Amino acid sequence: MNEKIQLLGMTPEELGAFFKAQGQPAFRARQVFAWLHQGVPFEKMSNLPKALRETLQNTCIDNPVSVLETIESKLDGTIKLLYRLPDDHVIEGVLMRYKYGNTLCLSTQVGCRMGCKFCASTLDGCARSLTAAEMLGQIVCANGILAAQGAGQKVGNIVLMGSGEPFDNYDNVVKFLRILRMEGGLCIGMRSVSLSTCGLVPQMRRFAEEDLPVTLSLSLHAPNDEIRRQTMPVANKYAMDEVLDACRYYIEKTGRRVIFEYALVHGVNASPEQAAELAGRLRGMQCHVNLIPLNAVPERGLTGVTEREVDIFKKALEQKNISVTRRREMGDDIEGACGQLRRRYLKDHA
Ligand code: SAH
Repeated sequence: MNEKIQLLGMTPEELGAFFKAQGQPAFRARQVFAWLHQGVPFEKMSNLPKALRETLQNTCIDNPVSVLETIESKLDGTIKLLYRLPDDHVIEGVLMRYKYGNTLCLSTQVGCRMGCKFCASTLDGCARSLTAAEMLGQIVCANGILAAQGAGQKVGNIVLMGSGEPFDNYDNVVKFLRILRMEGGLCIGMRSVSLSTCGLVPQMRRFAEEDLPVTLSLSLHAPNDEIRRQTMPVANKYAMDEVLDACRYYIEKTGRRVIFEYALVHGVNASPEQAAELAGRLRGMQCHVNLIPLNAVPERGLTGVTEREVDIFKKALEQKNISVTRRREMGDDIEGACGQLRRRYLKDHA
């Protein structure tokens, strides 16, 4: 099965070389590139000769990702998705419906090896990284679901905030982003993409120079190194000062503000004093803080905060002129924390 050639995830140049080797004219690359990103199977690529369609069907894969299960929220239409990969690994994603459009949360790895204590994605480590095709394929699948609902909608915004650490899969993520914005393909611009990282400093600095000006989100979750190290092993490798310097470099290079994600954990990082300390660290930076009430993961034994605690923390930041919002929760009736749907599936099918 895996010997078939994956065409999604190839650039038009790579497709061009592939078709040239088959003795096909150069324009086939453009035709097939467009069809693949529209989610059209080989047999329906109507401007290709029948014989070529048959050859492609027998020798190639159009989308390595397929939808295994969907769960739709009755509250707001949010859809949780479970996908299957060619080697039978299972990943998850979320399709969120906002007034301004559809946002898809993508996974970049099967699991994660960063080990954050509050996160379910990392509990079993990382099985492997996803290819660019498998990232594009998640979007093609979600567009298929939207098309079936008939409202003529598509995914307009991408957040790389599902399972996995995008910068632990650097080359594939960069390739994915370059293809994502191409005309004739999905054509999703970098301003419609957010990438979230736990703070791998060398990759953050390298990424600032790729000319891929996405919104960078940094999972900070603490006002100082000591507290950050309690929940994020990566903080033992890179000090907060180095991470914040890399953020400043990204702001300087791209002109875009950085978003700091801060999951409030009761008794760990959520006191007003800690808010004041955080404000001090971020002073003068072109940034925004996104407060996330912790989505409690039963395996982890950490507890979230009350609405009142969120409010007090938020006001303490505002007093110090830090721009801050509380993240809206979507699909409350279906949502587990990051990685939980996949865990449930794996347990049920063990
Ligand atoms: N590896 C990347 C992206 C994946 S997670 C990163 O670390 O940023 C997306 C966001 O959800 C991160 O900010 C992550 O820290 C946060 N997150 C993970 N588990 C959570 C939980 N149980 N409750 C709230 N936020 C969580």
